[in-house]
Amino acid sequence: MVKVAHVQLSSCCGCLVSLADTYEKLLDVLGAIDLVYSQTLADVKEVPDDVDIILLEGSVCLSDHHALETALACREKAKILVALGACAASGNITRFSRGGQMSKPVHDAFAPLTEVVKCDLAIPGCPPSPESIVAVITAALEGDMDYLEPYAELAKYGSEACGCDLIVKVINKSLCMGCGACAAACPTRAVSMECGRPAIDKEICIKCGACSVQCPRIRFPELIEKIE
Ligand code: SF4
Ligand code: SF4
Repeated sequence: MVKVAHVQLSSCCGCLVSLADTYEKLLDVLGAIDLVYSQTLADVKEVPDDVDIILLEGSVCLSDHHALETALACREKAKILVALGACAASGNITRFSRGGQMSKPVHDAFAPLTEVVKCDLAIPGCPPSPESIVAVITAALEGDMDYLEPYAELAKYGSEACGCDLIVKVINKSLCMGCGACAAACPTRAVSMECGRPAIDKEICIKCGACSVQCPRIRFPELIEKIE
């Protein structure tokens, strides 16, 4: 039976809600998973050794040694470590934290999980959809690397995945084809299509990276380099 663990660091629980929404489907698709650890959904005190897939949600508070230790331990224990959701994948809204907030005033710096330990996959979204969680887990179990390639790519991007990337890497380079995928993906409606091109309102962008991941053109220059 496939051992799956869900671990939470600095996040709002939105990814957990999405994960919980998949349960029936996950059980259907996978036959059965063994949820060996989840702070909320399973009565287990420690992440066991040798877990097949660890879904880790949330960013890592750099002034909390427990968070750093948890991230490192999860990397060691997981065959496949998945950065679940935008906070783990690209930092998301925790990138705006400047510290001093109650009830954790000393917590002043957060980094996406992907920049603290090597992650195999990252699932975007704030929160990620239940469908995308099921699809990624299923593909990982089937070894469908073609399907997983964009998720593996995102895991390498870290905090570089954000709406600003679209401006620098796509729009300013005249690579945008006006498909609107970025606007459709944005959870805060920070992207609007104006005259066939996306305009990004930085005031309401939470840096979740969803637009960047969806853009079919963002890795275009890298693909050209590879072909050359
Ligand atoms: S523009 Fe929207 S989708 Fe893109 S990073 Fe900002 S909030 Fe996320
Ligand atoms: S997803 Fe990419 S190509 Fe499509 S409109 Fe947005 S920036 Fe342009």
